[in-house]
Amino acid sequence: MILEARGITHYYKNDLALDNVNFTAQKGEFIAIVGESGGGKSTLLSILSSLLRPTLGELFFEGKAYTQITNIDAFRQKDIGFIFQFHYLISYLTVLENIKLASLNPHDGYVETLLKQCGIEAIQNKYPDEISGGQRQRAAIVRALVNHPKVLFADEPTGNLDSHNSQNIYELFKTLSKGGTTIIIATHDRKVSEYADTLIEVNDGKIL
Ligand code: ADP
Repeated sequence: MILEARGITHYYKNDLALDNVNFTAQKGEFIAIVGESGGGKSTLLSILSSLLRPTLGELFFEGKAYTQITNIDAFRQKDIGFIFQFHYLISYLTVLENIKLASLNPHDGYVETLLKQCGIEAIQNKYPDEISGGQRQRAAIVRALVNHPKVLFADEPTGNLDSHNSQNIYELFKTLSKGGTTIIIATHDRKVSEYADTLIEVNDGKIL
């Protein structure tokens, strides 16, 4: 087990967003968190990825409690990766420059390997506004993977993509998970069920 959450409850002021949620992820598992808008997917993903501290509950990464991780910045930089609906690439930098900026070892050749694996080698010297939405999201995926994260979190990663590009991204996640990277995505797109190993439905702050 790579990640475990026990009894996660979260309130935004007086609003209950998550109600006693339990969750586990195995190494190399591709998990999709699905459900209606406002159900709590994004909150759960933010908590699992250490970006948001839950009101109540415990989280463990490889058996270690998040509260015991002494260097949370290093944990976020090296052990986990993030992708969001918007790509957040820097418009003044090329795809390659954007990716190298995030890398702790930009000259070890791994960036080139990932560019090839994710199918964006040919556009690496282009600027974000010169490529398609699908390519931009692939660039964001490569950037999230440069430091060999064990878990990749993605919040509505295909929210701005058409169904063809979305399915290509799911296909890529599937390949990455088979290579050992745990993938946890939150999405309202039910098509993901054809690709994910595990589907978790979150509605009204509860796992169904
Ligand atoms: P989903 O990702 O499934 O759309 P969210 O986790 O974004 O669901 O939201 C769950 C609930 O928490 C909703 O009722 C939403 O309005 C509320 N919520 C989410 N983020 C905030 C916030 N930053 N402040 C206050 N309420 C929030």
